Amino acid sequence: MERGSYVFAPPPQPALPVLGLEGVFPVRRVYCVGRNYASHAREMGGDPDLEMPFFFSKPADAVVPGGGDMPFPASTRELHHEVELVVALGGGGTGLGVDECRDLIYGYAVGVDLTRRDLQREAKASSRPWDMAKGFDRSAPCSLVARVADAGHPRSGTIGLSVNGEPRQNADLADLIWSPEETLSHLSRLVELVPGDLVFTGTPAGVGALAPGDTYLAWIEGVGELRGRVLPR
Ligand code: MN
Repeated sequence: MERGSYVFAPPPQPALPVLGLEGVFPVRRVYCVGRNYASHAREMGGDPDLEMPFFFSKPADAVVPGGGDMPFPASTRELHHEVELVVALGGGGTGLGVDECRDLIYGYAVGVDLTRRDLQREAKASSRPWDMAKGFDRSAPCSLVARVADAGHPRSGTIGLSVNGEPRQNADLADLIWSPEETLSHLSRLVELVPGDLVFTGTPAGVGALAPGDTYLAWIEGVGELRGRVLPR
């Protein structure tokens, strides 16, 4: 074996299909905003008037391109859906001003920030990290990426999610507390943003449980839709 060669084959690069292209979007990191709609902040017992957004992350390989079937995750009795506008970065940098951030955006997608809510509640109560509540396997189903050239920069329009055909979440992108540009500016003061990063921008009210056998449909006007199913046990 050559010096410096991998001792076993490295894992595949996570990627998302891009609308209208053969090529795929290589995912580097997945960042998520904690609370970005006042309605959801309130339903979680939080304060919608925070001065700064806060962030957590998921592993890049938690992304599930195109949704589809997934097993019910381990170690939870309360799997929750959170539909979110996902920003896909084609540029990067640090310490960026809000005005600079629009040019970083390659495109947008529809994502579901799947959450083991029971584990998150325990983590909050004991001041422990959220990683196992948020960053578990297949916790980030995501639609294909719609490029800015096709989707523009959607800042209003419906964002919704239904389960087995019944509406659960229904809101408007205009209700985001921090715009994608403001979110990216804040995040770029904490970490270097790099092409390939995804940012889940937060969910509106109406989060709820997905049970084994449930099918969800998530959509964002002007961006796309995402379908998935939690397999029966
Ligand atoms: Mn979320």
